[in-house]
Amino acid sequence: MDLQLTEWHRWCVPRAIDADYLVVGAGAMGMAFTDALIDHADVRVVLVDRRHSVGGHWLEAYPFVRLHQASLFYGVASTALGGGGRQRRGPEEGLHERATQAEIVAYFDRVLHRMLDSDRVEFYPNSDYLGDRTVRSRISGETFEVGKRCRIVDACYLSPSIPAEKPPPFDVAEHARVLPVNALARLEDAPSEYVIVGSGKTATDACVWLLSRGVDPNAICWVRPRDPWMLNRAKVQPEPSVFLGMAADIMAAAAGAASLEDLFLRLEDADVMLRIDPAVMPTMAKTPTLATWELDQLRTLEHVLRRGHLKAVDRGRLTFADGSVTIAADALVVHCAADGLKYPPLVPLWGPHAITLQPVRAGFPCFGAALTGYVEATRERDDDKNRLCTPSPYPDTLAQWARMNVLGTQATIAYSADPDIRSWSDHVSLNPARIPPGHPTSAALDDATERLTSHLPQGLARLTELA
Ligand SMILES: Cc1cc2nc3c(=O)[nH]c(=O)nc-3n(C[C@H](O)[C@H](O)[C@H](O)COP(=O)(O)OP(=O)(O)OC[C@H]3O[C@@H](n4cnc5c(N)ncnc54)[C@H](O)[C@@H]3O)c2cc1C
Repeated sequence: MDLQLTEWHRWCVPRAIDADYLVVGAGAMGMAFTDALIDHADVRVVLVDRRHSVGGHWLEAYPFVRLHQASLFYGVASTALGGGGRQRRGPEEGLHERATQAEIVAYFDRVLHRMLDSDRVEFYPNSDYLGDRTVRSRISGETFEVGKRCRIVDACYLSPSIPAEKPPPFDVAEHARVLPVNALARLEDAPSEYVIVGSGKTATDACVWLLSRGVDPNAICWVRPRDPWMLNRAKVQPEPSVFLGMAADIMAAAAGAASLEDLFLRLEDADVMLRIDPAVMPTMAKTPTLATWELDQLRTLEHVLRRGHLKAVDRGRLTFADGSVTIAADALVVHCAADGLKYPPLVPLWGPHAITLQPVRAGFPCFGAALTGYVEATRERDDDKNRLCTPSPYPDTLAQWARMNVLGTQATIAYSADPDIRSWSDHVSLNPARIPPGHPTSAALDDATERLTSHLPQGLARLTELA
């Protein structure tokens, strides 16, 4: 009887946990926020995630994924991801290192241990936040709740959806062979044809990976409903003259742009933006970075289907709204068509019910989350914090890319005006636009900062009109 009562109590009466913050989501953003918060405030944080560990979507990512940009720009403020070095061999020799999936997962695990050693953080894996200050373990079923004064931090508002966890957005007939991109690395027999479905970064990774494994370009059919603009990786580097030079190019192009399309064409001329097919005007601008060697590889693929979204896959056939296309009977259709980035409405970072993590400067979500943690630790009033840090969205279309840059630039001007934030962000390698203290001057850096200063007012005004 006593035992039954104890069990009943354990299942039905949530245990109370005393904490100042409950961070929901231990992906890159939740980790970056928590790390900066505990480094600048004496607080207790409970971190929860429904996954089995920290690292978020990287735990389920396809094994050949790498960061699309330099490792230094990703992770948490206290601890650099990787050694900060440049690639010493291969087609990206000279560009900064980009961590692999395994390296990212190991890194977040090390960061977790640093947090646990601080005695300020408790981590509850395999645990769902149910709302209403309550968390339940998926494994033991136990629940706990945090008190009214504990701030809730929504670190999953922008959590991306990935093919490993989202069924394909098209019908699949019984004998059709359709697999998520993750399965490619574990294939046992080569099909005579691969059909890659998706327009984004995952699809480009899958194509480049198949080509690197010796697949004949003619054996790849690419279902690409939209063409993407992508940033030239050589321009998105932690070297200040390079990054600020790119920012100056963007503002100069915007200042003179007659339209959004014209803006992107000017950026293509400036070597900032890349597109796969020079004959097609892209309509998608999530703008991951791409290396020019990858672009050369992607351009070898000639069998591209631009017929809108795929509706159904049968053995030997793809069906679109306007008809069907024959494929090999043994074709392997590779699902790379999850939404990836999310586009919910922007909300104030500090709201009445939660702190909702979103990027602040354009792109670079880890920097935005770390900045939010620093500001939370060092300011009292929410209205003050919201004045300093305003959210910017992830982009999908050309207009949204312009809007992201307008909001991100305005936010950068606002938070950089406070000297301590300026100083903190100059010391943090997650901030792509920093000039680190003591960084040597050079003609290239002077040129980049002068051009940025002179083009910014007109560029920002025109971007605002275009957005
Ligand atoms: C393949 C891929 C590559 C990318 N590469 C880059 C890159 O190179 N650079 C870059 O800046 N961005 C990149 N991104 C963009 C992406 O937005 C960033 O990785 C971002 O930092 C994602 O982190 P997150 O914390 O927002 O989301 P997630 O990693 O998804 O973390 C959110 C976590 O919240 C948990 N969660 C959700 N709801 C609950 C709940 N109710 N209770 C408990 N837990 C919950 C989820 O389990 C998840 O682990 C990439 C995205 C993808 C998909």
